[in-house]
Amino acid sequence: MPRPGLDPAAVEGLLQWFANEARDLPWRTDRSPYRVWISEIMLQQTQVETVIPYYQRFLQAFPRVEELAAADEDRLMALWAGLGYYSRARNLQKAALPVVREHGGVFPEEPSTVRALPGFGDYTTAAVLSLSMGQDLAVLDGNVARVLARVFLVEGSVKTGPVRKQLQALADAGLPTGRAGSYNEALMELGARVCRPKPRCAECPLQPVCGAFREGCQEEFPSKNETRVRPCHPCVVLVVRNGKGQVLLHRREGKGLLGGLWELPSIRSLEKLDTDPATPDQLAPLLAQALAGLPGAPVGAAGPERCLPVFRHHYSHFSIEVHPQEIEREVQELPADWRWVSVADRDGLGISASDRRILEDLGA
Ligand code: SF4
Repeated sequence: MPRPGLDPAAVEGLLQWFANEARDLPWRTDRSPYRVWISEIMLQQTQVETVIPYYQRFLQAFPRVEELAAADEDRLMALWAGLGYYSRARNLQKAALPVVREHGGVFPEEPSTVRALPGFGDYTTAAVLSLSMGQDLAVLDGNVARVLARVFLVEGSVKTGPVRKQLQALADAGLPTGRAGSYNEALMELGARVCRPKPRCAECPLQPVCGAFREGCQEEFPSKNETRVRPCHPCVVLVVRNGKGQVLLHRREGKGLLGGLWELPSIRSLEKLDTDPATPDQLAPLLAQALAGLPGAPVGAAGPERCLPVFRHHYSHFSIEVHPQEIEREVQELPADWRWVSVADRDGLGISASDRRILEDLGA
């Protein structure tokens, strides 16, 4: 099941931030496809400050695609000298030729036609068509990947195909129709200036929805080690309420990771997840087991379960995908290591971070 991307309120916050904070860059004043294309190629693997004078000189020398197509190769390379990755300059001219000869100097609009031009990959195609023509295509560059990996706690190296596919799907899912250009630029700008390898979360418009900020693990994402993918296990957690607004907690035995903490009744699968999120088939037996494990003699029938928002919680060597379920239930004669807890009692108890989060979200 695909995960949803940024929600509309978060996208609005991001776009507002970009409207206020966007840098004044020369390629932002004229959004013609030709100029966007030149800037995007120059910006690959190259800092913005380095690119600015090269961009200005290049556009002075070749203001239109026709001049680029007809350029003398020595002059082209002289204008590129110092920017590195010289195949970029050669490909610019190779792509300019069919744009002039086959499309009359008008940049094509069809993504597959653009993608087939020399020097165009998925990123450059989406960038040029969204920034200059407003086509609804989401870009995924290193900056966007870092932001989304942190916001959505995407495990694994962004250099691997499956992780890139997942991040691209997240970028696509959050894209606001008709505003792709601003959305793409805002995400890229955020990654370049705020969600940097050392992030400045205090300045970030996505802080309220960022999983890595919430968990305090910003610098663990994106993963640097391609082989380090923590296994993730589905887990059903019961929020059992009684008629007095109290919640049922259980003290965990032993000295393990969470030993001695008070916790919501839960069952975690030993099998690791191979879908995202867990399927109903995986969850149903966990829920039945969790309900069967409740203590005391139930009074009356239990109310129906209500599914609460799913989230992931990370430990050092594994993660859990938490599926909280809320039910109403009255129970007689609780064993010593179980108790009903009101909001006031809760603050004085040691409760695990993931359970505290569920209770706080519920206002329980
Ligand atoms: Fe990045 Fe921090 Fe913003 Fe999350 S809150 S997106 S980690 S800058």
